[in-house]
Amino acid sequence: MKQSIFSILTLLLFSQLNMIDKPSAVSGTLYSDEGSVSIQMENGKISGIDRLEGSDSEEKLFIAPGLIDIQINGYMGVDFSGPDLTVEGVKKATRALWKAGVTSYFPTIITSDVDRLKKNFAILAQAKKDPEIGKSIPGFHLEGPYISPVAGFRGAHLEKYIKAPDWKEFSEIQAAAEGGIRLITVAPELEGAIPFIKKCVASGMIVSLGHHNGTAAEITAAVDAGARMATHLGNGCANMINRHHNPIWPQLADDRITPSIIADGFHLTKEEVRSFYKAKGPDNTILVSDALDLAGLPPGMYERGERMLELTPNVVKLPKENVLAGAASPINLCVGVVMDYTQCSLGDAIQMASTNPAEMMSLDDLGNISVGSRADLIVFSMNNNKMIIKETYVAGELVYSQP
Ligand SMILES: [Zn+2]
Repeated sequence: MKQSIFSILTLLLFSQLNMIDKPSAVSGTLYSDEGSVSIQMENGKISGIDRLEGSDSEEKLFIAPGLIDIQINGYMGVDFSGPDLTVEGVKKATRALWKAGVTSYFPTIITSDVDRLKKNFAILAQAKKDPEIGKSIPGFHLEGPYISPVAGFRGAHLEKYIKAPDWKEFSEIQAAAEGGIRLITVAPELEGAIPFIKKCVASGMIVSLGHHNGTAAEITAAVDAGARMATHLGNGCANMINRHHNPIWPQLADDRITPSIIADGFHLTKEEVRSFYKAKGPDNTILVSDALDLAGLPPGMYERGERMLELTPNVVKLPKENVLAGAASPINLCVGVVMDYTQCSLGDAIQMASTNPAEMMSLDDLGNISVGSRADLIVFSMNNNKMIIKETYVAGELVYSQP
């Protein structure tokens, strides 16, 4: 009896060790050059990349670094800005995002009452430490409340909570987030915005300009102060703008600005996506979903916070104001749309949806496939520019496999 218990314990210990050290591998077509490869994973990292002879498999399966979405408001009914957010809800959203090939994301909280901001960032900070999902949450994005209060530019943000930048107040929000806010969207024309941007940059954050009506001079001053991005360029902007003097041209013209774009097929026209891409190129463009929590739910009218939202099959609208409230598509769909619109390669599209956001956010071991990088990988097929995710790995662990 004693002996059998001992052997069971030995077996358990052995299988545990085995789990930690067992190398695994995934084979397929490398996204960047379409060569056949086998990628070995060990202890959560990529431990080897072998080139293979061409494979004869019928369906071409690509391997790419996992997608990284730095602007996502919620998913599968879980609203990161909502009153009911829980760690369990963040887990649900994360697991659903793995199915869409997203291995890392920045939960985004939008303009809200400051108490709500603190409460929800504290919940996100807990989720970031969770052993199951924490690896997929490298940081958070705060969009607002320091943005333009003007209709059109403020988009779907609630006017009553919009205000001028306040470093003391922000520091309290950041403390509630346990320092996890790595990206902030700010309007450069607000009183005090430039010193605020300098403080954000000095504290190690990335500042993105968004929901603003800044002049060319104000945008330049913000970039001089260290702002590096433009949030969902072409959205968060009034429908009627001056053809010469508007916030879009200066952000396109300044090579120091990397815009994020919502290439979901609805937030920007094909011509806008093509023009932005031609101006910035695959090295300086970032794809984001800007998905709302309604993404993944059936179309219809939904009550959210203090308003009604309309979910169409493709996009979320504020019916009363007739403005877009957010997207309903995960970022893997945007990869296909940007390829369709710009005719860029799969490699370029993955660069914009994984490599570039990783580099912008200093996630050095993510967004690429090289020995020593974290084994965040996706295996997928492409069908008429639609990405169909087959497997998702986070730190070498299979977290999703298509049934
Ligand atoms: Zn926005």
